[in-house]
Amino acid sequence: MTTRTLQQIIRSIPTTDGGGVRLRRSLGQTQAARVDPFLMLDEFSSENADDYIAGFPDHPHRGFETVTYMLDGHMLHEDHLGNRGDLRSGGAQWMTAGRGVIHSEMPQQESGRMRGFQLWVNLPAKEKMKPAGYRDIQPEEIPAASLPGGGKLKVIAGTAHVGDEDVSGPIQGLSTEPLFLDVLLTRGETFSHGVDAGHNVFVYPYEGSVHIGSSKDGQALETQAAGVLSPGDVVEVTAGEDGAAFLLLAGKPLREPIAQYGPFVMNTRDELEQAFRDYQNGQLV
Ligand code: MN
Repeated sequence: MTTRTLQQIIRSIPTTDGGGVRLRRSLGQTQAARVDPFLMLDEFSSENADDYIAGFPDHPHRGFETVTYMLDGHMLHEDHLGNRGDLRSGGAQWMTAGRGVIHSEMPQQESGRMRGFQLWVNLPAKEKMKPAGYRDIQPEEIPAASLPGGGKLKVIAGTAHVGDEDVSGPIQGLSTEPLFLDVLLTRGETFSHGVDAGHNVFVYPYEGSVHIGSSKDGQALETQAAGVLSPGDVVEVTAGEDGAAFLLLAGKPLREPIAQYGPFVMNTRDELEQAFRDYQNGQLV
């Protein structure tokens, strides 16, 4: 068994997107800052409506999946297929753009805290042009479990092993085999979990700080930074002085060329240009 170590830190930077939503971007801030198959991770967190009220009006995507996981707040998703999803605290939305989707994600609150994440997951070349799909996941569909060593987790995608039990999240069966966990630990508690040795893994503390690796000589990872882990088959994360809440993402790398411009993620420049032409001609979706 090889315990993964901290290989690279991608600190989040403040930016804006959509209609002017203030957020912090770790993965995806540059084209080098990706963890195949994960393209981007944004965190939005504010009590100030001016930071989020403009939302994400109608915009296109092609060639990958967008995953929104909401901690606090209320957003409405609407797309060209007629899907409407009410995204509430603790819920998620897994949107497969495939050949194309045009959608909006708009806050349904004018005060209070809006907090959550958007993750972009790439699709393999052979699935980039498949029909768009959409899954609205209610908070009660996301299983939670207490960890034997203290702390608890929620499973948004894939299957976690907790003690002798398998805890399976609502999202299963994707080509990239994502494991998407939200883990909460109190001070000094350690989370240890097996992962596929061939998968890429990163950890993103959104509260508190953690140590990666065996608890004694682990490496520090601060809040709001993505820690990319070395190869190995076990992940160990220990909470710092103030406890920690973190996302853990693992996935099967695609190892395919990426041609990206904004909301289109394809394999070649020709395919990107085609996506632009299709969008301009009203033939994206
Ligand atoms: Mn979008």
